[in-house]
Amino acid sequence: TALLEIRNLRAEIGGREILDGLDLTVAAGEVHAIMGPNGAGKSTLSYVLAGKPGYTITGGEIWFKGEDLTAMAADERAAKGLFLAFQYPLEIPGVATLTFLRAALNAQRRQRGEPELSSPDLLKRVREIAKTLNIDAEMLRRPLNVGFSGGEKKRNETLQMALLEPALCVLDETDSGLDIDALKVVANGVNQLRAPDRGMIVITHYQRLLDHIVPDVVHVLASGRIVETGGKDLALQLEARGYAQYQSEAA
Ligand code: ADP
Ligand code: MG
Ligand code: MG
Repeated sequence: TALLEIRNLRAEIGGREILDGLDLTVAAGEVHAIMGPNGAGKSTLSYVLAGKPGYTITGGEIWFKGEDLTAMAADERAAKGLFLAFQYPLEIPGVATLTFLRAALNAQRRQRGEPELSSPDLLKRVREIAKTLNIDAEMLRRPLNVGFSGGEKKRNETLQMALLEPALCVLDETDSGLDIDALKVVANGVNQLRAPDRGMIVITHYQRLLDHIVPDVVHVLASGRIVETGGKDLALQLEARGYAQYQSEAA
């Protein structure tokens, strides 16, 4: 079975249909890029996968590791190994980054019926991961994402991913706002966490992120569905020709 299989997915927000028969299959070990024009529904897809309130599935199926994802609560999705990263991560002024990491990991372990990790064990593990990712462990004491630069937020996100060891990572890095440092951090994170038993979906409006990540598969999402699928060369073609073709098809 595929890691993720989406069939004919339809979803709406505020009574408006945004996803309109979307099909996508991701196998373990693969990195997929999803590109497409603004307003195509890329972020909507990631919110639907996250189970964000307000997004209603009106048709189709989502299978994650052979199970019906739509029947799972958001924390259950995380426990089963789904990790979602958004461009603007949560800032929590009163909570140290390490405390947040411990809460996230232990929530996952409780859901799985595993014992919680003790503070010293967690600190040891986080430090090891931080070292392999070249992350300054000093960041761990600071309040989560508060005053973090774009690059620091992305380092923290990579640390979270490495700690939680997800089966599928979905990164919505679309639209403006990621500086070149942050882009490189995202790319390094994806490249380092690539694994035979892990899939990745990188959603982006811009080809430049893919200068640093070599995806196995590139999809174009336009008007709420995947309209074209190809190899890494497709990203370069899109850079050259733009999205006008898909927008006129939609009109
Ligand atoms: P993308 O990430 O590809 O730029 P989005 O998924 O953010 O696209 O948006 C897809 C469409 O959904 C857009 O036309 C947008 O205006 C619309 N949309 C997004 N959020 C809402 C909302 N809360 N209510 C109604 N329409 C929305
Ligand atoms: Mg947008
Ligand atoms: Mg978006």
